Order: sequence, then C-alpha cells, then structure tokens
Amino acid sequence: MITLKTAEEVEILRENALLVSKTLAEVGKRVKPGVTTLELDRLAETFIRDHGAVPGFLGYEDFPNTLCLSVNDVVVHGIPSKYELKEGDILSVDCGTIYKGYYGDSAYTFAVGEVSEAVRQLMRVTRESLFKGIAQALEGNRVGDISAAIQGHVEAFGYGVVREMVGHGIGKNMHEKPDIPNYGKRGNGKRLREGMVICIEPMINEGTHEVFLESDGWTLRTKDSKPSAHYELTVCIKKGQPEVLSTFEFIEQN
Ligand code: MG
Ligand code: MG
Repeated sequence: MITLKTAEEVEILRENALLVSKTLAEVGKRVKPGVTTLELDRLAETFIRDHGAVPGFLGYEDFPNTLCLSVNDVVVHGIPSKYELKEGDILSVDCGTIYKGYYGDSAYTFAVGEVSEAVRQLMRVTRESLFKGIAQALEGNRVGDISAAIQGHVEAFGYGVVREMVGHGIGKNMHEKPDIPNYGKRGNGKRLREGMVICIEPMINEGTHEVFLESDGWTLRTKDSKPSAHYELTVCIKKGQPEVLSTFEFIEQN
C-alpha cells in the first residue's frame, strides 16, 4: 500500500531529512586518511542523539550500527569497523534517523583525499543521475520515468546499475511502497501522486552491475571488485516541480 502524507507529516519528514543531511556533513568533515569507519559511526550517533533523534539504522533488522559505511567496491550496507580510510578510497555514507515517529534516510559518497580521475567521474555521474531521477519525480509521471532517467544517464558511461537494491517510499517506516528501481522503462510502473514521499538512491558500479553478499549477511560488494557510488535524497511528489526534503548543501559548503 502506498501512503500519501499530509502536510504535517511532510514537515516531520523534512525535519528528519534535514537532520540526516546535517549528520552527513558532520561525518564528511572527518573523512580523511587514517580515520576508522567506527570513529565516523560514533560521531554520527552522538550528533543524532544530541539533536533529540534516534539512529534509524541501529537495530533495524539487527543492523549493528548507526551508519552504513561502504568503502570502494562495497556497494551498500558496509558495517563500521577498525578499517582506517586511506588516500584514494571512496566512502559511501548512508544514514538514517527516527524523529517524532518518522524516518530520515540519505546517502553521499565522499572521496578520501585525492581519488583517480576515473573514480571522480563515477561519483560525478552517479550524483548527476540522482538529480536526473529527481527531475522526473512529478505528479502524473510514473516510477519508470525516474528509473529510466537514472539508468539512461549512467549506462551512457558504461556503468552498471545495481538491481538488487532500490529506492523506496519513506514515512513511519523506513522502507515503504513504492519501490523506486534505478533501472526501468519510461511510462512503466506506479503512477506518482502528490503527497507521496520517496527516497531516490542510485547505486552505480564502475563495472558490472553484478554484486554479491558477504558472509556477514550485510556487506554487498561488486562482483568484479570495481568501485561503486551511492547518493540518496528524499523527495515529496508535487505538481509542477519536485520538493526535495533533504539536501547536499551542508556537505558541499564544507
Ligand atoms: Mg539510505
Ligand atoms: Mg534508502
């Protein structure tokens, strides 16, 4: 079932979205060679709790931490550890909150120091594909319009679109209907209606779209060990133009 949110619910979802956005920016300031992913996780948990909210991922289906921290060929759901970031890594940070009974969920891929030109392009194109998808998130369009816009943009660069993980509705639950795949056909899928709130989150691989799950049951890696990037924002469907509830502004003004 797809729930349409009231104006009051959208405002609470916006508060969550902004807190997640600010948390990602706090984490981003500390992304440097030598920092462990566990240190970043602790910092995010403290920041979220200091703002009167609760980490949305901690304990969700028994996930052990506040952040999903995915380095290089890890696509998503990396578990924070003693791993020390090193120059040239990329780190995808996915963060969730619960505040006033609703969820926030947003992700951003950071470069650790200087990264190769190829990796910089993967990050740039993945980020661009998110905004191509958002531009289609309008009342009257269909989910497939978002999917096709993302897929078309990244496949033109030879990149692989992860099939196993998709975007989603968000509200009192972190993952609500409809699914928002990053691959699909224009004009297909559920019709978008005003009041739907969705997370659009391209997960894009430099090489093959194929992935595998590690034995820890969480860590999803690319099959060919090439890097993967991930960006996620929350959008409220409106007539005329999409209303983006979360933002990368706090991150990118650092
Ligand atoms: Mg997320
Ligand atoms: Mg999500």
